Amino acid sequence: MEAEYTVIRCTRLKCGKFSYCKTKQKTKKCPYCGRVVKLNKIKPIPAKTTVHARRLVQEFNRKLGELTEPGWYKPEETTDIN
Ligand SMILES: [Zn+2]
Repeated sequence: MEAEYTVIRCTRLKCGKFSYCKTKQKTKKCPYCGRVVKLNKIKPIPAKTTVHARRLVQEFNRKLGELTEPGWYKPEETTDIN
């Protein structure tokens, strides 16, 4: 099954927040800082449904809040994220 939604991370270093959008979108405006993120410039994290996508976003953003340095997140590796 193809993922219909994509979890993306803001490319602005000081922001770095996660949000989600439809996979077919080419760009996504970060709801936190307003930066337009180009989906072809990042490694998107696939999500099957809005519920799934929202859960991932919440989870990731919570972890960002807990860690000063989000070194746990490696954009090159998405396979181990459910
Ligand atoms: Zn942002």
